[in-house]
Amino acid sequence: MLDTTLEQKRAGFWRGLSLWKKILIGMGLGMLVGLMLGPEAELLKPIGTLFVNAIKMLIVPLVFCSLVVGVTSMQDTRKLGRIGLKSLVLYLGTTAVAISIGLGMGILFTPGDGIGMVAGDSAAVAKEAPTLVQTLLNMIPKNPIDALAAGNILQIIVFALGLGIALNLSGDKARPAVAMFESLAEAMYKMTELVMKLAPYGVFGLMAWVAGKYGIDILLPLIKVIAVVYIGCLIHVVVVYSGLISTLGRLNPARYLKGLANPAAVAFTTTSSSGTLPATMKAAQQELGVSKGISSFVLPLGATINMDGTALYQGVCALFIAQAFGIDLAFSDYLLIIMTSTLASIGTAGVPGAGLIMLSLVLTTVGLPMEGLAIVAGIDRILDMARTSVNVCGDLMVSVLVAKSENELDESAYNCPSYNGSRADLA
Ligand code: ASP
Repeated sequence: MLDTTLEQKRAGFWRGLSLWKKILIGMGLGMLVGLMLGPEAELLKPIGTLFVNAIKMLIVPLVFCSLVVGVTSMQDTRKLGRIGLKSLVLYLGTTAVAISIGLGMGILFTPGDGIGMVAGDSAAVAKEAPTLVQTLLNMIPKNPIDALAAGNILQIIVFALGLGIALNLSGDKARPAVAMFESLAEAMYKMTELVMKLAPYGVFGLMAWVAGKYGIDILLPLIKVIAVVYIGCLIHVVVVYSGLISTLGRLNPARYLKGLANPAAVAFTTTSSSGTLPATMKAAQQELGVSKGISSFVLPLGATINMDGTALYQGVCALFIAQAFGIDLAFSDYLLIIMTSTLASIGTAGVPGAGLIMLSLVLTTVGLPMEGLAIVAGIDRILDMARTSVNVCGDLMVSVLVAKSENELDESAYNCPSYNGSRADLA
């Protein structure tokens, strides 16, 4: 009898926790269990994979339906262009700042000093990265069904924008189709909420696997570069993003930081900003009060072209490699790194490890030894966790600022956690 009451209390405690707290507990427990079990913790990875697959299942229908609905709810095509331009300027501007922070941190803390590598030590081959022109040309899907089936987000965005505009121009005749997309989008939002309930368990499984795989010993020699990337990421979110939220948006940055907890945790453990998209959209709408119209356009775009964390990481790693090999960089090299990384971020896919491929592009451009990739590759997952979280936080920041500037931010929802009726679902 006593046991049953205790059980009930425990179950009640867990159920009463808000989702972000559950996710945090999952992460902490996962790390602990992973360190205890070591490589054996791989056994727990399927729990994480289950969650990742469930969330991936949502991406294509969610992005497609909500983007079409986003456009049809904005009859004014000029407004759409304005929102696109604002997002692009903010995305690229913050990316350039991020990489400058990465370079600054690398200069200040010299994470590569004392590693003493000699070019030719180990072999690593530069992987091919798509050029900017290639990326732009590839944005038009020759076959939209192909694009949907392949999950090509940029192509899906282009087709959904076109379809939304065409539905608007078709007037009354297109009403049934618009209503269908509206109800499908609602169903996808609901499904996202259901899948997110799995997040604490998925995060537990993924975290246990990573902690078990890397352990403390493997990390120690490279702890400095890891620390520099993590501190840089933290500065970018807390100083740059929060600063923009309060100066440009005239909003309370603490609310922004609280609102991004769930998607940041999902990004941290899945290392994919595209994969985190359903969680990001949910947080933007329900936690931060961004309208569905703005979030469904700005966020998918951000998940594919905005990679501030990746850019910051490239700055640190380029310097780390230069220092490890004892190579001095000129001022023009720094400029080259800033330009290449900013442009490369447009073509970086929001999937695990994509930043490493782009790093090879930066190294080649500046003429740094490709062998450096081999050292970074060993700890890439750990660096990917931090940079993906920043990528997602950047997307959210831009969605809030753009919504605010377009009068599409529900400030009562932004400021008051209990305002939005749907928030109960988050608990
Ligand atoms: N994993 C990152 C993301 O999805 C991309 C990267 O590897 O930097 O945003």
